[in-house]
Order: sequence, then C-alpha cells, then structure tokens
Amino acid sequence: MSETDLQSAIMKALKQAGYWAFRVNSGGRQGRVRLAPDGTPDICVVSPHGWLEVKQPGKPLRPAQSDWHAQAQRLGVRVAVVTSVGEAVSVAGDWTRQDNLRDGLALELKRLVEGVL
Ligand SMILES: [Mg+2]
Repeated sequence: MSETDLQSAIMKALKQAGYWAFRVNSGGRQGRVRLAPDGTPDICVVSPHGWLEVKQPGKPLRPAQSDWHAQAQRLGVRVAVVTSVGEAVSVAGDWTRQDNLRDGLALELKRLVEGVL
C-alpha cells in the first residue's frame, strides 16, 4: 500500500472511531500557497491532541521529520510514527486514555485541595 493510500485509510478509520483529525501538507510552498514547515507530520489529531507521521513499514524518518519530532517531544507535544491503520487508532486510543487519566487526577486533586481549605 502506498503511503498516500495508508494516510487515507488511517483518516477514514480515525473519523469512524470518532476522532477529530485532518491531513497536513508540508514542505515549503506550492505556488502561492504556504505549506506547513518541512518535517511536519502527515496528520494532526485535534482531539485527543497529537500528531501522526505515517510511514510505510521499514521507511525511516527524513532529517527534517526527526528534527520536528525532537522539538515536539522537547515541548511536550505528542507525536508518533505509525505504519498501519490499527497502530494509528491504537495510538489515538492511548492518547485518549492519557487525557482521561490526567483530567480525572486533576479533578480529584481539586476535590482534595477544596476539602483541605
Ligand atoms: Mg509520512
């Protein structure tokens, strides 16, 4: 399967699973249209927030992509490399569980603090 076909299949599966996501075109300019910076991952998952770089199995990241991922990780932005539809949906599920855990802990902490004050 080409990477483009894989991206389309992943987008379809993410939407069917209820995630809000969109494709991103990167790499400078296309005529007068300014694209996202080179190295930007293929898919932005808006909720739960994170970025997915789609690769065919065995294909490495380009240097600009590795740089993008390193910066994202330094800044706490979630980014993952996925090579299949199942992996993409699984990663989004992991992000959802992480968000739910964080939100639940924040709520519990708020209750505890309010109980002490
Ligand atoms: Mg890609």
